[in-house]
Amino acid sequence: MDPHARIFIAGHRGMVGSALVRELAAQGYRNLVTRTHDALDLLDQRAVRAFFADEHIDVVLLAAARVGGILANSTKPATFLFENLAIETNVIDSAYRAGVQRLVFFGSSCIYPKLCAQPIRESYLLSAPLEPTNEPYAIAKIAGVKLCEAYNRQYGTHYVALMPTNLYGPNDNYDLAGSHVLPALIRKAHEAKLAQEATLTVWGTGEPRREFLHVDDLAAATRFVLEHEVRDGVFNVGTGEDLTIRELAQCIAGVVGFEGELVFDRSKPDGTPRKLLDISKLADMGWRATIGLTDGIRDTYARYAAQQREHDA
Ligand code: GDP
Repeated sequence: MDPHARIFIAGHRGMVGSALVRELAAQGYRNLVTRTHDALDLLDQRAVRAFFADEHIDVVLLAAARVGGILANSTKPATFLFENLAIETNVIDSAYRAGVQRLVFFGSSCIYPKLCAQPIRESYLLSAPLEPTNEPYAIAKIAGVKLCEAYNRQYGTHYVALMPTNLYGPNDNYDLAGSHVLPALIRKAHEAKLAQEATLTVWGTGEPRREFLHVDDLAAATRFVLEHEVRDGVFNVGTGEDLTIRELAQCIAGVVGFEGELVFDRSKPDGTPRKLLDISKLADMGWRATIGLTDGIRDTYARYAAQQREHDA
């Protein structure tokens, strides 16, 4: 890809967008275009059209989204559905109207059916009902995938959709009401250790299985897709390995140094029983994740603990 291409990273302050900025800047891409939420509200169609008309963007990385864990999704279904649909339609259609040929849309593994054969292949999309706890978000993300396919078919654009598994890493959300399991357990274990508590409460039964990808690996996969001139399609991005929530909690407790007992709160939902992506499509093209889970958690916890120390100082 042309190192001088003007690349708009929508959502550059989020976990995915900030990883994309780090990766592309480190690799010598100099024309990265970003806008804060105050400068450009992606829910505002007129503002988004004007931005694309003015900026001569070559490539769009659409990492802006309303995101959250199982609790946020079940308490704010309208927000998750409306805001994600609005961001996608505004950005994708405005990009097309401004002549942008290349775009990468970031979906999520929760777009696949609740009870899906494992590991999940890209072709299983829309083959059975979704997990009800995050259906609004999933419906919006499926619409994003379909927008990319439809614009490619009707207008000859090259819009690609990446489906990352559960992500973690720098700039994650540690607010317990909205966060995903990995950052939530890092925070809970850290606070339980400091308060010398005897127990750490984990939601659900601990039996569901999940796969986790460091966001820097997703950024590397995105650069791979851009540099290999991938023109269309849906691609899962994961590590190919999963573990139970109990094993994840044990791993996090070990990294954090929390030595108490894990307690499972069965009044909280488990969500999908298993979510492991089939990653052979990207692997066959030559891309693989490189950051192991324990190393990734160690690095993420070190950053989290440093931020907490700064905050407390
Ligand atoms: P999901 O992957 O879309 O289901 O979203 P989450 O990351 O929020 O939850 C994954 C699994 O971790 C579910 O089975 C949760 O019940 C479980 N879990 C255990 N403890 C926590 C916690 O403290 N926060 C969250 N968000 N999930 C937790």
